[in-house]
Amino acid sequence: MTQELFVAEVTRTTRLTPGMVRVTFGGADLAAFTTTGIGDEFVRVRFPDASGHLRLPTLDEAGVWHEPEGDDSHIEPYTIRHHDRAAGEVTLDFVVHGHGKAGAWASAAAPGDRVAFNAPRGLYQPPTGAQTQLFVTDATGIPALARLAEQLPDGVQAVAAIEVAEASHRLDIGGERMQVEWIVGRGNGVGPSAITEALRAMPISAECYVWVAGEAGALRDARRYLRHERGLTPDRYDVIGYWRDRQEEWLEHYEALGTDTLTALAAIWESSDDHEQNRDRYESRLAELGL
Ligand SMILES: Cc1cc2nc3c(=O)[nH]c(=O)nc-3n(C[C@H](O)[C@H](O)[C@H](O)COP(=O)(O)OP(=O)(O)OC[C@H]3O[C@@H](n4cnc5c(N)ncnc54)[C@H](O)[C@@H]3O)c2cc1C
Repeated sequence: MTQELFVAEVTRTTRLTPGMVRVTFGGADLAAFTTTGIGDEFVRVRFPDASGHLRLPTLDEAGVWHEPEGDDSHIEPYTIRHHDRAAGEVTLDFVVHGHGKAGAWASAAAPGDRVAFNAPRGLYQPPTGAQTQLFVTDATGIPALARLAEQLPDGVQAVAAIEVAEASHRLDIGGERMQVEWIVGRGNGVGPSAITEALRAMPISAECYVWVAGEAGALRDARRYLRHERGLTPDRYDVIGYWRDRQEEWLEHYEALGTDTLTALAAIWESSDDHEQNRDRYESRLAELGL
């Protein structure tokens, strides 16, 4: 059976920029970790609880996971920036944005600290033969983009735009394979996102593949542009919400919608229409509800 939960111990940390910290993990469990090989693969990282204990779910004999009682562990998705199979190490790069628990944990991480994560899953899925690939993201997508750039197939022409909060948050990524434009002072919780503007400036055609990741609210317009204004078919784009600005306010508003509205929203995903049609309906209903 594939191992489904890995306890990982910090071996070292490196400040890549004032806005990003790299954490490398080792430990006995990681000897069994396997990568999907997909550049944007990610895991759901379980951080220690409020008292500093890493509380783990347990697997019963029927193969069902059970969460520890009263568990308040914080769990967030992070990209596998690097997997070194020989060394049994996994590296994650964390944006340090000054608000959340995961970013704060990474800023203070020290050798011996532990987290746990599941097996990885990737979303980047260009159609065969997509020779032009376009990438737009904010700082949270830098780890995925850096790895996607390293793994680009021969002959692919790639263009990327990345918005960061400050000029000092730029990194040396892309190389000859990927032409990277940096947009400073936009998105990332410091200003309006420039993601759709960046897409509008790109050479989009029906044969290209477009990968977009970033703040969920900003991506609604980006997805609308690709799907409805440019008419890309769903196999030609992936638009992936990585985080949500002022998430606490958003969740408060969402939870206050009431059972009937929440049930109707959930039912949208049960329709037999394709996923992107359902997403159209879900996004437009959320917008009507002021979310
Ligand atoms: C598939 C996937 C892969 C991801 N890979 C990475 C990765 O490799 N590196 C990485 O850093 N992030 C990555 N993320 C995003 C990361 O999971 C979120 O930013 C997450 O919310 C951070 O958790 P937190 O505990 O720090 O903040 P939360 O507890 O989730 O949020 C607390 C507050 O911080 C704000 N906030 C959260 N993230 C940011 C941000 N980036 N900038 C500004 N404000 C923010 C929220 O709006 C909220 O108000 C990925 C997300 C997905 C879905």
